[in-house]
Amino acid sequence: MRACLFARERLVLTDGAGCLPSLEEAKTWGLGEVEWFPIEARGRQGIRGVAALAGAKWTAPPGVTSLGLRSVLSLLAPSEVGLALTAAHLVRGRRTSRFCGVCGTATVSSPLHQARSCPECGHFVFPKISPAVIVQVTRGNEILLGRSRRHPQGSYSVLAGFVDPGESLEDTVRREVEEESGVRVSGIRYFGSQPWPFPDSLMVGFTAICDGDGTLHNHDDELEDVGWFSADALPPVPPRYSIARALIDDFARRRGVDPATIPTWRRPPSTRPNLENQ
Ligand SMILES: [Zn+2]
Repeated sequence: MRACLFARERLVLTDGAGCLPSLEEAKTWGLGEVEWFPIEARGRQGIRGVAALAGAKWTAPPGVTSLGLRSVLSLLAPSEVGLALTAAHLVRGRRTSRFCGVCGTATVSSPLHQARSCPECGHFVFPKISPAVIVQVTRGNEILLGRSRRHPQGSYSVLAGFVDPGESLEDTVRREVEEESGVRVSGIRYFGSQPWPFPDSLMVGFTAICDGDGTLHNHDDELEDVGWFSADALPPVPPRYSIARALIDDFARRRGVDPATIPTWRRPPSTRPNLENQ
């Protein structure tokens, strides 16, 4: 069994190990006020573990460190990434559902569906999940990539955005790509999905084809640059644990370029304390 312990919203690892601590190990750390709760990463591995949120006064004992979640993910074995993502999402869910939204009473743990429940009125509070799309848009041998101000210097990724009320996922793909690049798309096809707890998304991946000549007009303040890139001249792109990278690797592979040759961006260590900002 593995433990995912969050202290001041940073995930705790044993120094140098590059893996999650065991529950037995984590429980010897003198954590003070800690709530432990079971989690299950539903995936091919079916991993079970526990997550905990330590109090703000917790300090790391010798040999233990805490890191921002994005930094941790690149250190973990692939089989542990799903567990860490699930734990991060549920820890945030616990922090943001302490009181009933109907009557204001303090909520309690529910044995059902990883939810909180209200002992006064019976209202259930489920962990919030916000759907977002992420899209591989191609024009012949080129892929459409954008550069956010949050990305490491000189790095790019595929375009993405949250689903608005009333939209189908395909509507969001068309709207986001046009808002961020001026490009219209067709031939939208489902690619795959990934839970993405930054802070509470489910990323739904699609492929789409440029409709027209692909002239670029960036109308969106979120991106500082957008452009077409050929498979053999890609800029630094996101790490391999992300669906963004899976979409870019798929594009390259289909054009005869080995994904191992694509540069991965390097993010400087974050000093910002919140999961939402990392
Ligand atoms: Zn209530």
